[in-house]
Amino acid sequence: MNYHKIILKPKKEESLLRFHPWIFSGAIQTIEGEPQEGDIVEVFTANRLFIAVGHYQIGSIAVRVLSFQPVTIDNDFWIGRLRAAYALRQSLGLVAAENHNTYRLVHGEGDNLPGLVVDVYAHTAVMQAHSVGMHHARGALTDALLTVMGDTLRTVYYKSETTLPFKAGLPCEDGCLYGNEVEDIAIENGLQFYVDWQKGQKTGFFVDQRDNRSLLESYARGRDVLNMFCYTGGFSFYAMRGGARSVHSVDSSAKAILLTKKNIELNFLGDDRHEAFAEDAFKYLDKAAGRYDLIVLDPPAFAKHKDVLRNALQGYRKLNAAAFDKIRPGGILFTFSCSQVVSKETFRLTVFSAAAQSGRHVRILHQLTQPADHPINIYHPEGEYLKGLVLHVE
Ligand code: SAH
Repeated sequence: MNYHKIILKPKKEESLLRFHPWIFSGAIQTIEGEPQEGDIVEVFTANRLFIAVGHYQIGSIAVRVLSFQPVTIDNDFWIGRLRAAYALRQSLGLVAAENHNTYRLVHGEGDNLPGLVVDVYAHTAVMQAHSVGMHHARGALTDALLTVMGDTLRTVYYKSETTLPFKAGLPCEDGCLYGNEVEDIAIENGLQFYVDWQKGQKTGFFVDQRDNRSLLESYARGRDVLNMFCYTGGFSFYAMRGGARSVHSVDSSAKAILLTKKNIELNFLGDDRHEAFAEDAFKYLDKAAGRYDLIVLDPPAFAKHKDVLRNALQGYRKLNAAAFDKIRPGGILFTFSCSQVVSKETFRLTVFSAAAQSGRHVRILHQLTQPADHPINIYHPEGEYLKGLVLHVE
């Protein structure tokens, strides 16, 4: 194929030789031709040696690398990448498992498909493009998904209105690219969740907390549990199944609380251990002194960019300090950050200063991260975004 060519400045290929999949605009010497955002480009060193092929972008990241081999990006390429992603999930026991139908099939750079996310709920794949290149490829990707997954796939829903770069100004509407069956029950480890994948947050459900929810189940027996930032209620149902004495789910969004209540009916109809409240986290925690001995804090990303990191860290510190203040002696705190720009070390330091502020004796029992269907490309450490700590508070 004859792709547009990008020539790097001398020595700017070093990170690419270590397979880092992003090329920053400052590394570029010349661009041959006039690639449009989303076009495929080939990248060469200053000495004109081929180094990568990828999607062109306008912005600080200029190219997201699809391959370090001089390959053509055609249907076979997409099929190959999706086949590898599917095989990994099969080997993890997530596909066609008993009592389980929900997993992430494609996790961007972690599956060598930068800019693409695909979550599977039963027979529906929800596809999300974070780059114009992947937006252009959506038709080919749908065909490739059908080739790889066969008739286990009945609907492909495209949900990129809010994730595509705003400045690209693309006309994009969420909707079905294939089929139109509306299935809305995700089953995770035997628990059922009503998933609003058309209007809900992310692809409709936070698939990434699966393993951490399972761990919480093993801590829940006999405890009074507060699930703060509950969204669809994920952690709450594992706590109930684990034998919690009471479970309170809190989210500032009334819609999220409705979803949580709907999910209670699906799983624990008539179980009066559960109550849900539409309230702000900080206000709720203010009056929670001594009421809980297991607290989950899973807030939205407080920092989406480096520029707001300072404020975000203050937010995490304040939130965790409030939980340390209120939790009963002997309590267990599950605390998370899903901000990609907050590193594991920084998050731990922030929780440390919140603990010090409360003066409580705190020990780390577990250090948590994202599950195996959200793999981290070792050459792209930026892909590690979810971090959590399980703490014992004396
Ligand atoms: N724990 C959830 C995912 C949480 S997503 C799960 O396992 O699926 C973050 C949630 O925080 C969203 O539902 C959002 O509505 C809620 N939220 C955001 N700001 C809040 C605030 N100040 N107080 C309470 N909830 C808030």
